[in-house]
Amino acid sequence: MAAPHRYLVRFNPKKTPHYFTDILVIGAGISGLRAALEVPPELDVLVVTKDSIQQSNSNYAQGGIAGVLSPEDRFENHIEDTIQAGGGLCHPEIVQMVVREAPEQIQELIRWGTHFDLEEGHLALTREGGHSHRRIVHALGDATGHEVMRAIIARSGQAANITLWDNAFTLDLLANENTCVGALVDRPGLGRMLIWAKQTILASGGAGMVYRETTNPPVATGDGMAAAYRAGAQLRDMEFMQFHPTVLYVAGSSRFLISEAVRGEGAYLRDKNLERFMLQEDPRAELAPRDVVAQAIVRCMERTQHPNVYLDLKHLDPGKVRRRFPGIDKVCRGFGLDITTDLVPIRPGAHYMIGGVTVASAGRTTMPGLWAAGEVTSSGLHGANRLASNSLLEGLVFGASCGRGAAEAASGMSDTFTALPHSFHFEPETDGDLDVSDITNSLRSLMVRHMGVVRRRQGMQTADNDVAFWCRYVLGREFDTRQGWELQNMLTIARLMIRSALEREESRGVHFRSDFPQRDDERWQRHLECPAFSELV
Ligand SMILES: Cc1cc2nc3c(=O)[nH]c(=O)nc-3n(C[C@H](O)[C@H](O)[C@H](O)COP(=O)(O)OP(=O)(O)OC[C@H]3O[C@@H](n4cnc5c(N)ncnc54)[C@H](O)[C@@H]3O)c2cc1C
Repeated sequence: MAAPHRYLVRFNPKKTPHYFTDILVIGAGISGLRAALEVPPELDVLVVTKDSIQQSNSNYAQGGIAGVLSPEDRFENHIEDTIQAGGGLCHPEIVQMVVREAPEQIQELIRWGTHFDLEEGHLALTREGGHSHRRIVHALGDATGHEVMRAIIARSGQAANITLWDNAFTLDLLANENTCVGALVDRPGLGRMLIWAKQTILASGGAGMVYRETTNPPVATGDGMAAAYRAGAQLRDMEFMQFHPTVLYVAGSSRFLISEAVRGEGAYLRDKNLERFMLQEDPRAELAPRDVVAQAIVRCMERTQHPNVYLDLKHLDPGKVRRRFPGIDKVCRGFGLDITTDLVPIRPGAHYMIGGVTVASAGRTTMPGLWAAGEVTSSGLHGANRLASNSLLEGLVFGASCGRGAAEAASGMSDTFTALPHSFHFEPETDGDLDVSDITNSLRSLMVRHMGVVRRRQGMQTADNDVAFWCRYVLGREFDTRQGWELQNMLTIARLMIRSALEREESRGVHFRSDFPQRDDERWQRHLECPAFSELV
């Protein structure tokens, strides 16, 4: 049995090509590209992304971006809604900063060519769960992420100081005396490369793929969180995974998200007996925050002994429904479902990782030289539960502030900056073949079974034992495939999630424990910091 290693692979700097840049951005979703665009033209930025540039959670966002844009709305309302959803763990000063910057960030996207949907010449604003007012801008009906990313990718392509490498997998962050000095990257066909950066911005997104039922695309395997953890940056609040209540549940579908905006426009949730069960659960009914709705759905499925519940849009104007939700309409039709006349089967799925790399207001991590923005972080905006449509916004605001902060720090550093490269060797465990897909599938099923919407000690303890066992013979190996590295990262993240969930003996926000169903402010109104990497085994 071998212990986990600081780096996923061995490397010798004398035999590895080097690349130097002022700023390295890891990830090309909304946070990474927004960060890159904030860096002034005199500094070089290298953006690396592990797949094609279109593969990010950002690209799949449907509902929209929240911001106070209507005369009937006020900053105080958006702040209050965010804090209310966050279950006592939001940082009010971060919420204030993000909410107040939202209108300007949205205007900036418009200046960069984003076409948000309009109504009578004004931005069309919708409402989602937990929002007291209509304040969500959206694009192409229900393909906001696609349109925003189209504009932001085009803008990045025009910036002469931004270089983009797609299919460039970040294996690990490089550190010199606990300061981040870049990353080790693998490019299939081109080999490994040491990228030395004066400042590094981590924008590698979430970890929904740790679960079998998830809305996230395959890139969301928590690589950046795991790499930051191995390098010594602090992670916190890993027990808080947000489940989206309404994920299409049809055999053969890739767990497609049915946007919250569908309920915002008036859709009902019904059980198998066609009862509108949310009316008994919460005064806000279908528009209650996501955790409330997801838990109510799980209770309803248990009560009715049925694997799903249904979304009902039959009472809404069919023309409007099709115009407003063309993407959802198309996907459902692919399964023979007409959203204007049929009930749509849904159940909750893993959606958004609230915990992650701890950052302060400008996006600074606890590791000098390393900044982070977006879903990879725990910024204090979401607390214990993210309010819908606040995360693209977080990516914009923190992406911009990381770009600014990293650029300022890099400008002050000498051009002749060199970090002494060091070799990294270990004796990998090589005995026997390993079926990486089999362990990956087992992990993802285990997480659905024991770390889902409703958790209890016994199940989580089983999950902890199984994951600890897999870690013992997987983390000590050296892989040379993306699937192998992703499995190592997912196991590391799953381990941290289970440990935190076991430790937090209460229910708060998205973390619901049937053995501790009450919120306990006296003991638990605080963040849970992850143990150091050396204590993982
Ligand atoms: C289906 C869906 C719908 C959503 N709808 C909304 C919505 O309407 N409104 C809202 O506010 N939020 C929504 N969200 C959440 C939101 O999309 C994400 O939280 C947000 O886009 C995260 O942005 P990001 O830039 O931090 O990460 P991402 O957009 O996920 O980008 C991460 C980037 O890092 C790269 N990467 C990952 N690992 C590595 C590695 N090892 N090496 C190199 N690169 C790597 C990825 O390839 C990707 O380019 C939705 C999410 C999903 C999945």
